[in-house]
Amino acid sequence: MTTVTLQPGKERPVVQRHPWVFSGAIARIQGRQPERGAVVDVRSAEGEWLARGCWSAGSQIRIRLFTWEPDEPIDDALIRRRIERAIDGRRRLGMLANEGACRLIYAESDGIPGLIVDYYAGFLVVQLLTQAMAQRSAAVTRILVETLAPRGIYERSDADVREKEGLPPASGVLWGETPPARLRMRLPGDIWHVVDLGAGQKTGAYLDQAFNRLRVAAHCNGAETLDCFCYTGGFTIAAARAGARHITAVDTSEAALSMLREGLTLNMVATPVETAPGDAFKLLRRYREEQRRFDVVILDPPKFATSQSQVERATRGYKDINMQAMHLLRPGGILATFSCSGLVSADLFQKVVFGAALDAHRDVQIIERLSQSPDHPVLLTFPEGEYLKGLICRVW
Ligand code: SAH
Repeated sequence: MTTVTLQPGKERPVVQRHPWVFSGAIARIQGRQPERGAVVDVRSAEGEWLARGCWSAGSQIRIRLFTWEPDEPIDDALIRRRIERAIDGRRRLGMLANEGACRLIYAESDGIPGLIVDYYAGFLVVQLLTQAMAQRSAAVTRILVETLAPRGIYERSDADVREKEGLPPASGVLWGETPPARLRMRLPGDIWHVVDLGAGQKTGAYLDQAFNRLRVAAHCNGAETLDCFCYTGGFTIAAARAGARHITAVDTSEAALSMLREGLTLNMVATPVETAPGDAFKLLRRYREEQRRFDVVILDPPKFATSQSQVERATRGYKDINMQAMHLLRPGGILATFSCSGLVSADLFQKVVFGAALDAHRDVQIIERLSQSPDHPVLLTFPEGEYLKGLICRVW
C-alpha cells in the first residue's frame, strides 16, 4: 500500500482525528503514485503511523481519513459498520418512520467521507462526492439494499463539489424502483410534503430545517407572515398549520412554488397563501415602498459563500436582506433568520444581524438560537459539519 508522509509539524489535525489532509501538508509519497480513490497510509515526518484514508487526485483535500486503527482496513466491512451505526443513530432519534424523511448518512460526521444518504418515504437518495466513494458506488448500493430494503435508490451526485474532485455530475436510478415525480413524505410535526427526488434541489428537500420550522411556526398563530426563499414551503406549511392569518411565500423557482401549492392542499390548511415568484432582494424593497407590514418574516436564503473569498460579499448580502426584513416588521414582530454558509460562523452571522439592526434603527432581541436538525450530527473532530445557524429575534 502507498504511504504518504506529512510535512514536519503537520500531523496535529490528523492525530486529533480531523478527517482531511490537504495537499500542502504532504511531504512525499512512498511507493506508487496512488490511483484515484485508492487507500493510503499516512505517517508523520518522523515515520510514525497515524491514520488511513482514501486518495483524491487533483482535489485540494488530497486524503479523506477513515480510520485511526492500524489494523482496520478500508473495505466493504468498514463501510457496512459505519452505515449500520449511522442508521442506528437515526433510529434512536425516532426518525426512521416509513413515510418519514431524514438524513441517514452525513458523510465525514458519520465516518464515511464523501457519502450522503437521505431517506424519503421508502426511497434513498445517494450523493457520492469523492473519487473514493464514486468508485465504491456498487458496494454502497448493495449494503444499503441489505440493511434497509428500500423501494429504490436514486443517485443525485450533481452537487458542485464533485467538480473539485474532477468528477462529472451523475444522477439516475442505482437500484430498484424509479421514485415518482411527486413522492409524499411526512415531516416532524406531522406535516406532509411532496418531493421530487429526481429534479428537486439538493437531494430533493431541505431536511436540515425540519425542526426549526416548528420552532418558527410557534410564533405564527394569527400572524401575517412573509416566508422568503420558501422553496417548496417548509416554513409556509408549518406556519399555516400553526394558524398564520396570511402568508406571502417568495422564491425564484416557479417549480418550487407549484409544489408548495400541492403541499398546502395535502395539509388541508385554511390560511390564505400568496405565492410571489421573484427575487427576494427586490421584493423586500418593493414591499417596503408599498409600506406592507408583517408580524413574522422568515429568511432562509441559499448558501451565499462557497469559498473564503466570497465571505465578505456574502455578509453584505445577509446584512441587506436582514435590514430589509426588519423594516417590514411591526414592533414586537419576529424575524427568523438563517445562514447555511458553513464559512460564515455563528458569531459572524450574529454580528451581521447586529449591523442590520443598527442600520434599520430597531432594537432586536435574540429569543432563540437554532442549528441543523439532529439527523445532521456534528462530529466533535469535524466542526466543519456544522453549517446551519438561525436566530429567532424579536424586533421592536
Ligand atoms: N426555506 C426552504 C429552503 C430554502 S433553500 C425550506 O424550508 O425548505 C433556498 C431557496 O432560495 C431555494 O428554493 C432557491 O430557489 C431560492 N432562491 C435563491 N435565490 C433567490 C432569490 N434571489 N430570491 C428568492 N429566492 C431565491
